[in-house]
Amino acid sequence: RPLPLCQFVAYPVMMPPEERFPDYSAWQRESILNAQFLKVAQSVLMDCVSSRYHSHDFDYYRSELLIVRIRLFAALFGLATPVWIPIDRWLLPDEALGSMMALRLVTGLGLLLLALLPARATLTAARTRVFLLVAITLLFYLGVQLLVGPTFPESALIGYTVLPLLLIAILALLPLTLAESAFLQLLVAAWLIVLHTGFGVLLEQGVLGLLWLLLLFIGFALMAQGIQLQLLLLIHRQATRDNLTGLFNRGALLREAAKVIDRGREQGRVYSVLMIDLDRFKQINDTYGHLAGDNVLRAVSGVLAGEISPGNLPGRFGGEEFLLLLADTPLKGAREKAEQLRLAIADLQIRTETAKLTVTTSIGLAEGAPGEALEEVIQRADQALYAAKEKGRNMVVS
Ligand code: GH3
Ligand code: MG
Ligand code: MG
Repeated sequence: RPLPLCQFVAYPVMMPPEERFPDYSAWQRESILNAQFLKVAQSVLMDCVSSRYHSHDFDYYRSELLIVRIRLFAALFGLATPVWIPIDRWLLPDEALGSMMALRLVTGLGLLLLALLPARATLTAARTRVFLLVAITLLFYLGVQLLVGPTFPESALIGYTVLPLLLIAILALLPLTLAESAFLQLLVAAWLIVLHTGFGVLLEQGVLGLLWLLLLFIGFALMAQGIQLQLLLLIHRQATRDNLTGLFNRGALLREAAKVIDRGREQGRVYSVLMIDLDRFKQINDTYGHLAGDNVLRAVSGVLAGEISPGNLPGRFGGEEFLLLLADTPLKGAREKAEQLRLAIADLQIRTETAKLTVTTSIGLAEGAPGEALEEVIQRADQALYAAKEKGRNMVVS
């Protein structure tokens, strides 16, 4: 979600409900707050269920995490699989040993390849890798069952039986959405059912016991993943969003901008930077108070938030200054966009307790030249902004 739930977080702290909803009775206020709470709870749940409403930068962050963890697990298990060979010699009949060793070596190699496979941090790459980890493990399990036969009567072979449970436990350590996770867990369960049906042992006590345990593990894994993802979203939001306006904060904006610009450069795109500064904002604070000033900042942010798209990144650069990156727009288009924004912001009517406020902006813009660092482009946009202020404010200068 491009905008966080900052309104719900920020308002109660700053303004008690009786001031926010002065015209309502106490229980009406109560039910408004309850409804808002339910809305927040619902959107938290939705964010755990699927990635549909996740922002692009969160997708990137989660993909990176997933890929790193899959690499780690694949490397660990890739190395551990052949290490088990001496224990096979101790537990398994001699005639199974050769094939088992081959199976372990092939699986270990497959896992190591998965660990080394280079990847860009995209959700597709991350999901493919999680799927491959599951698929390799399930194929290994099939191999083991074919070699040692359904092993349930013999308790010494318990280690060869619990592999699917181990897989579910590993999945619980990944920040998957509930939909992604449920798909993989069902795959594991289905594989187990098909396999043991094939062996004709599905209804044996040992197998039913294993399936029951699997179901419990799946339940806990889903809970662990939901909690993990919710915390991750919360932390990510707090680290990357400005909590007054909900736009990107400065650090996150510059990081995202660098990524988008790099991608655009490969595709031969030209970008522009807009520096947007509110005119005589200090006067608004001094005349109407800081809370009114904050409301002005929120209202202006609302206009800028309307520009959010994969290639257009608005953010709060600091104080009453905003930056808008247009990743695929040369100077001419950027100037039109800036003019449009200047007019839209000037049209805002911001209500305070005593008056309706309006605010104007000065905008400086610059187009990124090939090979120029983003900081230099921002510097030039800033100089243009300074010129706009000099010339009398409420205008666009490039
Ligand atoms: P100019 O037209 O030259 O830009 O004048 P200005 O008054 O807008 O610029 P100046 O840099 O003098 O003042 C910026 C003010 O923005 C000062 C500061 O109190 C206010 N400000 C910065 N961050 C916030 C904020 O989060 N909330 C509020 N209410 N005010 C803020
Ligand atoms: Mg200003
Ligand atoms: Mg300023």
